[in-house]
Amino acid sequence: MAILLLADHDNETLSDQTARAVTAAIKIGENVHVLVAGKAAKAAAEQAAKLSGVSKVLLADSDALAANLAEPLSDLIVSLAGSYDTIISAATSVGKTVLPRVAALLDVAQISEIIEVVSSDTFKRPIYAGNAIQTIQATDAKKVITVRTASFSPASQGPLAAVEEISTAALSSHLSSFVSDAVTSSDRPDLTSAKIIISGGRALGSSEKFKEVILPVADKLGAAVGASRAAVDAGYAPNDWQVGQTGKVVAPDLYIACGISGAIQHLAGMKDSKVIVAINADEEAPIFQIADYGLVGDLFEILPQLEKAL
Ligand code: FAD
Repeated sequence: MAILLLADHDNETLSDQTARAVTAAIKIGENVHVLVAGKAAKAAAEQAAKLSGVSKVLLADSDALAANLAEPLSDLIVSLAGSYDTIISAATSVGKTVLPRVAALLDVAQISEIIEVVSSDTFKRPIYAGNAIQTIQATDAKKVITVRTASFSPASQGPLAAVEEISTAALSSHLSSFVSDAVTSSDRPDLTSAKIIISGGRALGSSEKFKEVILPVADKLGAAVGASRAAVDAGYAPNDWQVGQTGKVVAPDLYIACGISGAIQHLAGMKDSKVIVAINADEEAPIFQIADYGLVGDLFEILPQLEKAL
């Protein structure tokens, strides 16, 4: 039987997260079908068709699917589920909203945020904020899985797969409806796919200081900007910059943590980064235990010097 992968997209562009989830899917089995469900999402379907390991793309087009709402998306997936033994998605906000509903409708247990595929029914996933790794064997006939994409590299480009338009007749009326979308637009790279991230913590003290010392270095490095939860809760940085257990999970090539103590909940979101640089005034700060390079000092002195040197 085949694997159905729910694509993450905005109707025009396929997210990098989907390419990473494809890498996980092809480790589970060979026949990977990508479901691109949306409104006028042909361009996203064509991008999915180019991913290596994808054998078919299913394109579902409906007004009801335009906004990635969980009810119509899960109804559509359940209507297709008979032909698949694995239903999988990146653990993005869409995947994390839709797949639990799919699992409930199919009456199976969801396997959340896998970081490794051991075999077609056995997976590794972090628990206790990443302090332990659980190996889990699925016994349900149908597996519903979300993928922690930071642990998988994106699938490369491969031979073009066929794009098949599918019926959306199974979609009926739903309780929820789309009201509005408030998206922060930024010229900076997306946090979850950035190669370099510079993050600030409570030590920044204000959003003005955040802009004054973190953003110029980010601009020089072409980096995405992250923040600790303490910085977000204090209003120094927007919500969607939060890295950690209750924020985004990232694994860039370079992560620069500035004035961040290194609480386990923050580490849960960034400890898989390839190179970690920590700047902290306290040489005992726990962040230094996982840092590849540590600078003990005042970030308000170090960061302007770094910016000048760059
Ligand atoms: P602090 O712990 O206050 O650290 C500030 C650091 O700045 C200190 O190490 C200090 O030495 C240093 N410093 C001070 N002044 C300077 C200076 N001038 N120059 C250089 N260094 C300086 N946290 C997250 O980040 N992400 C999450 O997703 C998250 N989820 C959570 C979920 C739960 C259920 C809970 C309970 C907590 C969660 N937290 C999360 C919060 C977490 O426990 C910490 O409180 C938080 O990460 C601390 O943020 P911080 O390191 O910025 O602040």
